[in-house]
Amino acid sequence: MKRAVFPGSFDPITIGHEDIIRRALPLFDEIIIAVGYNSTKSGMFDVEERLQLIREVFSGEAKIKVDSYQGLTIDYCRRVDAKYLLRGLRTAADFEFERGIGQVNKMMAGEVETLFMLTAPEYTPISSSIVRDIIRHKGKVEGLVPHSILSKISS
Ligand code: ADP
Repeated sequence: MKRAVFPGSFDPITIGHEDIIRRALPLFDEIIIAVGYNSTKSGMFDVEERLQLIREVFSGEAKIKVDSYQGLTIDYCRRVDAKYLLRGLRTAADFEFERGIGQVNKMMAGEVETLFMLTAPEYTPISSSIVRDIIRHKGKVEGLVPHSILSKISS
């Protein structure tokens, strides 16, 4: 079974995340979207809300599992027996950041391969932090988050 973990904060999930996940689906038997969190750091959406929003976006998609974890991502990958770690790349800054993490992860867990997918050009400027800023200031997040969760996010 080709199982990949797509880890992230997903605070909240954006249309950029969704696009990467949907494009990666044909490559794997299962993708676990894993919300990584730190109990001392709270986000805008609590972990249960983030999971619920992700489940809503991928409801009916049998190859997608949704989960949360604390601690090192590679420890989580080992726990769920995933040999692939999927990340999205938007910019050179993303690349530099991801390169370090990916190479150290490889040193710690040689059996786990990190795979990167380039964001679609139209989604390059989208990030959860921009979405949070817009929500805080009561702006519209249409076109930034998946359509199916729009009403749950902006209410
Ligand atoms: P983290 O805090 O771990 O970076 P995020 O939820 O911000 O978590 O991102 C999770 C993954 O999704 C990362 O690999 C990130 O590069 C990718 N990602 C974030 N936004 C986009 C986007 N607009 N297009 C493609 N990939 C994205």
